[in-house]
Amino acid sequence: MKFHVITLFPEMCEPYTNGSILGRAQKTEKGKGAKHRGKKIEVKYYSPRAFATDKHQKTDERPYGGGPGMVMKAEPILRAVEKAIGKVKGKKPKVFIMSPRGTMFTQEMAKKLAKEKEIVLISGRYEGIDARVKKILKAEEVSVGEYVLTGGELPALTMIDAIARNIPGVLGTFESLEDERTASGEVYTRPDVLVWKKKKHAVPEVLKSGNHAELEKWRSER
Ligand code: SAH
Repeated sequence: MKFHVITLFPEMCEPYTNGSILGRAQKTEKGKGAKHRGKKIEVKYYSPRAFATDKHQKTDERPYGGGPGMVMKAEPILRAVEKAIGKVKGKKPKVFIMSPRGTMFTQEMAKKLAKEKEIVLISGRYEGIDARVKKILKAEEVSVGEYVLTGGELPALTMIDAIARNIPGVLGTFESLEDERTASGEVYTRPDVLVWKKKKHAVPEVLKSGNHAELEKWRSER
């Protein structure tokens, strides 16, 4: 699956998508023991600044009707999206605009979107994006939570992360097992008895008992 991210700050996002599981999912594994050979995802970044035509590469302007702050101009964003998906034939990829006023992003949405081939995520800054971008691209506004952030970068990364882990092969086998559960609940690892400030904190016995029936019961109780 291809993720096209429109952001003024690609350098903020790249380290995240190039690290750990998302980073691995963008590489082809070689060698005998390789489990997930092909690339599972691709994340591409486009800065509206590169698509601004005036000599100062302006991407924001004062809002019509007054009010505080600056608004992101439509054309540099539209051109960036055009560059990202302009050549896609047939059904056009879905376009999402990060917005605190949007539809709440959920696990259900992440699972559904994991079946798409390509999607576009537009990240806003300042007072947001000229409303005509949404109309022209027939985009959907998505919010990641009831709070206001300084930009749409974290929301876009949140969507990529939650969607990608639902794509087969992105998580390793062990991790995919974990994915079967809605949430893992309490988890423990070594040491067996943790000594912290002279107090002992032991791992629950049931986890070490090897009794699977008891273990499942314990887990479902939580
Ligand atoms: N007054 C503006 C605030 C913009 S915040 C407004 O009401 O839209 C700047 C940018 O951050 C937004 O354009 C959006 O892309 C992003 N953003 C902030 N909070 C967000 C949230 N909860 N979910 C998704 N995007 C958010």
